[in-house]
Amino acid sequence: MNLEKIMNDLEKKHPGEKEYLQAVREVLESIEEVYNENPQFESANIIDRLVEPDRILTFKVCWVDDNGKVQVNLGYRIQFNNAIGPYKGGLRFHPSVNLSILKFLGFEQIFKNSLTTLPMGGAKGGSDFDPKGKSNAEIMRFCQSFMLELWKIIGPETDVPAGDIGVGGREIGFLYGMYRKLARENTGVLTGKGLNWGGSLVRPEATGFGAVYFAKEMLATKGETFKGKTVAISGFGNVAWGAVSKATELGAKVVTISGPDGYIYDPDGISGEKIDYMLELRSSNQDIVKPYSYEFPNAQFHQGKRPWEVKCDIALPCATQNELGKEDAATLIKNGVFCVAEGANMPSTPEAVELFIENKVLFAPGKAVNAGGVATSGLEMSQNAMKISWAKKEVDERLHHIMCSIHEACVKYGKDKDGYVNYVKGANVAGFLKVANAMLDQGVI
Ligand code: GLU
Repeated sequence: MNLEKIMNDLEKKHPGEKEYLQAVREVLESIEEVYNENPQFESANIIDRLVEPDRILTFKVCWVDDNGKVQVNLGYRIQFNNAIGPYKGGLRFHPSVNLSILKFLGFEQIFKNSLTTLPMGGAKGGSDFDPKGKSNAEIMRFCQSFMLELWKIIGPETDVPAGDIGVGGREIGFLYGMYRKLARENTGVLTGKGLNWGGSLVRPEATGFGAVYFAKEMLATKGETFKGKTVAISGFGNVAWGAVSKATELGAKVVTISGPDGYIYDPDGISGEKIDYMLELRSSNQDIVKPYSYEFPNAQFHQGKRPWEVKCDIALPCATQNELGKEDAATLIKNGVFCVAEGANMPSTPEAVELFIENKVLFAPGKAVNAGGVATSGLEMSQNAMKISWAKKEVDERLHHIMCSIHEACVKYGKDKDGYVNYVKGANVAGFLKVANAMLDQGVI
């Protein structure tokens, strides 16, 4: 594999798509060795076929705001690869959404979904719509208009979207209602549905729970547990909420959460009613964490800062891409962090990842750590297909089992000679092999 040539060509074809190019480079660097050892991949030109999405749908979303003004946003669905199952991946509604970000997320999703052990291909979609400060009625009208285009290319055996940043249970409800009306059928076309209409227990908390189950396995390789550890978490949305709950349940003290406005340091630990309060913060639709410090005055709010300056044993970045840079990584290491598990998608920059690995910190990438969300979406699809619903315990046990299998796969393909587990390599190689072999089996199409 001529990595630099591949990356140069890709950059010429897609100039400026920096997140997408970053994600591709990381995967190619990790799989280079196994790719070169298996000439059948090169003969089938697997790389060129893998790095470009199967198709991209771009569309216009027109909707009317509460003042009667007509608004126009952009909508996207990127169907990246369906060699091992129907396209699957979330929808992100955020003003930062563009083609590069969705292509990076869709590309990552291929390997993440492959790791889950379930038959799901990779996709991603979304819009530059900003849900912040919008009324319920505005959110509904936007979601309905978005689905008017999206419904043409999705289906329970074709492409199954779900939530991501800015898309939670409420949005999935509005999207599903419109799909049902247009398609005249009730099927498992979206995941993250409400419990009364085909949703799965544990789906809301699955990403955060899964991240902590994965981190628990990482700690176990060093004979450690969460008990008594200080944990720094970023974000305050769905993933952070699940991670705070599970880490606290396992005996850790979570001392931070964060938003675009800054971070909260709570020296007493975020537990009990404070975890419930995170839900209130989110449903206020303001995208800020500062009010936590009014509600719980022992906590301090640090405006415009990230939580990585706080001394902790374990860090779980659960906010967004590239939120933890080289300097943050250096500070965490200086302060004694020994485990970093990514709850978000690609939250650490490549320089930060390099520093963690150089310093032999236990470090695992989002595509392994946060795969519990989409894995539980896969379990929701299974329940929908069988037209039954499993009890909470059953879903949680399956989730736990899947996270342990992902950890095992990372160790299998990522263990270095000196015993250090390179989870980045392990996750990429394990995820890649399954998809690449499926592509070989199915011929050039
Ligand atoms: N958006 C989530 C992710 O990044 C969940 C996707 C899904 O459930 O399809 O994996």
